[in-house]
Amino acid sequence: MLRPLVFCVIAALMATQTPSARAAPKKPSAAPATTTPTPSRAPPAPPKLEPPTGVPLRLPTSPALLPITLATSLLVVSPHPDDEVLCCSGVIQRVLHAGGHVSIVWLTSGDGSELDLLVVEKSLLLRPSKLRELALRRMQESRQAATILGVPSDRLYFLGYPDRGILPLFTDYYITTYRSRFTTATAVPYPGTVSPGHPYTGLNLEHDFETVLDKVRPTLVLAPSPRDSHPDHRATGLVTIRAMARRNELSRVNYWIVHGGEFWPIPRGYEPELEMTPPPAGHGLSQHPFKLEPDEEQRKREAISAYHTQMEVMSSFLLSFVRTTELYSTTPMPGN
Ligand SMILES: [Zn+2]
Repeated sequence: MLRPLVFCVIAALMATQTPSARAAPKKPSAAPATTTPTPSRAPPAPPKLEPPTGVPLRLPTSPALLPITLATSLLVVSPHPDDEVLCCSGVIQRVLHAGGHVSIVWLTSGDGSELDLLVVEKSLLLRPSKLRELALRRMQESRQAATILGVPSDRLYFLGYPDRGILPLFTDYYITTYRSRFTTATAVPYPGTVSPGHPYTGLNLEHDFETVLDKVRPTLVLAPSPRDSHPDHRATGLVTIRAMARRNELSRVNYWIVHGGEFWPIPRGYEPELEMTPPPAGHGLSQHPFKLEPDEEQRKREAISAYHTQMEVMSSFLLSFVRTTELYSTTPMPGN
């Protein structure tokens, strides 16, 4: 009965998108309807989409981030190594400054980056062993970045699931095992993860994620919005929503976007005096700016720079997130 539950949640999320879809109707097609021959009989009406019973149509609205106090237990949910510093370095530092706790969980180890392999490893061959080595490097960079921000090492959780494989785990591989086309792994291959050797299934990923939630007991969760344009990010948002809804704690989640549109953040590059502009992908979301202090912004840049592998291939994009504000939404998608 687990598979229907997955689709039940996804169906509910799809239902929340319906109002926004209605609010922005598509332009009529080039061929006007009048050129179409009138059928002798009206076609049957499409089946009416009814929400699944027992599932609320509207997700609970989270309160804004503040107040942040020493009672705050923050969990940052990061699809790949580097997302956590891009989205959330300011809030991470603020929580620590207030005396609260910060934990970070990475769902993948970034082992699907062919660009990294080309630029960092100087190799055109997609060699699984090289990609696994790259993942270990990125995990180490995550630890260094977390240290710069002041997050203790015993609050870092790596799950080690496949890069670019999170969404398939919740469509075709919830029960059956997924094989990474990058590393050829079918189970978590990395030491230092929550469950090394755990076969790649959506069920196991959810189990490991729940293990982290049990340990951290977060009062505040920062997760990717399902509106983020990267499939791993969207799926990570759905994993978070599903897990927190099961605990009746969905109101503790705020959402961020890192892949927000083709040319976003605008402008590209290191512009520390500018505010972050809303991403096109977040259109319709109420996005709340979180103002960084100058020293927090500087520390954010240092943490981003710890990702040497990523800085070699996309420094301009990464440094675009060093702005005077970070943006968070209290709802995962428009229409709430
Ligand atoms: Zn990412």
